[in-house]
Amino acid sequence: MTAAVHKSKEFWTPQRRVAAGRANGRAPGRLPGGHVGDLADLKKALILCAGCLPKFNHIEAGYTRKPNLPVVSGRCDGCTQIKPRAHLLVHHSVANLVR
Ligand SMILES: [Zn+2]
Repeated sequence: MTAAVHKSKEFWTPQRRVAAGRANGRAPGRLPGGHVGDLADLKKALILCAGCLPKFNHIEAGYTRKPNLPVVSGRCDGCTQIKPRAHLLVHHSVANLVR
């Protein structure tokens, strides 16, 4: 936030805006459940592997799985391992916006 204030308007190209908004992942020492809970509070999309998915009560958190995207590839937000077959969870309020 403070970096955006100190940089000029020309500095913030679209590529730099995307890079600034990109999540850095779970901080060292942060517990996976707390990290996933923080993302869920912000209603961000979650990628969870088959091992981490049962540990997160997505129905209670208001999350749903997209039936047209049964599996995705990416870094699991729980265990931070890159999984070729993970599950995408999106918040119910934006579920119809994600295609
Ligand atoms: Zn995982």
